Amino acid sequence: MSEQQRPEARPLPGVQHVIPVASGKGGVGKSTVSANLAVALAAAGKRVGLLDADIYGPSIPTIMGVQAPPRVENERVVPAEQHGVKVISMGFFIREEQAVVWRGPMLSKMLDEFLQNVDWGELDVLIVDLPPGTGDIQLSLCQKIKLAGAVVVSTPQDVALKVAQKAISLFGLLETPVLGLIENMSYFICPGCGRREEIFGTGGTRRAAEALGLPFLGALPLVTALRAESDAGRPPAALDPEGEMGRTFRLIADRLLAEAEARAASPAEPRGAGGGA
Ligand code: ADP
Repeated sequence: MSEQQRPEARPLPGVQHVIPVASGKGGVGKSTVSANLAVALAAAGKRVGLLDADIYGPSIPTIMGVQAPPRVENERVVPAEQHGVKVISMGFFIREEQAVVWRGPMLSKMLDEFLQNVDWGELDVLIVDLPPGTGDIQLSLCQKIKLAGAVVVSTPQDVALKVAQKAISLFGLLETPVLGLIENMSYFICPGCGRREEIFGTGGTRRAAEALGLPFLGALPLVTALRAESDAGRPPAALDPEGEMGRTFRLIADRLLAEAEARAASPAEPRGAGGGA
């Protein structure tokens, strides 16, 4: 965030970079990307937390394969830990089939609880998996916490990109820099014949990033096994770090951290909102 940002935005004590992961719409793989980036950063030796703020569909405990839920010690919540990442999610506190119907102030309060009353310890990076779209959680997080900058995940289609651009505009309005864009489900490699299929077209996110003057952090293929592995709690960044997906996540995680560190070293104007730096 820039020096000129809202005065009430405060650093989260003990946490160097708070990085929200956003998307314009649901189903583009935002949670999958958040989890695997967190694991890739932890595998690179960073101290990493993962906050699942997607309270309408908290899927992080499943994707991460969390074995033991968080516990309470001295009135503070000690996060669960899996694949070297500290994990907190609404999914730990509600029954799976329970719908969450909350209004803005309650959402904001829950986010405060997750940020203030969780014993995150010292972290290099806290990845925050946001709900899709541009709602109260996004607003509340940007106003309250000093952020390194956001990451936006999109699929390559025009329609997905248009809604992703809305999310980017919101960060611009909230004076939160966008550290970069990631294209998920960029292309499909047929497991049978190895042919590359560009189901949704490819490269749209890279072009959007260029047009907006934002870094493009990388493209991830659509991989059939990834869905099954995610449902089984085996993120490829942990399961197969040297496989294609594992290596791609590591590369994107490295670029993301480099962007966050560059921003921290020289906070400039916020990027986003269609502007460019
Ligand atoms: P979001 O958080 O944007 O709603 P999820 O991360 O929950 O999206 O992903 C939606 C579904 O798509 C999940 O079943 C997930 O396993 C699957 N998925 C995500 N990325 C990929 C990919 N690159 N290849 C195959 N399946 C994917």
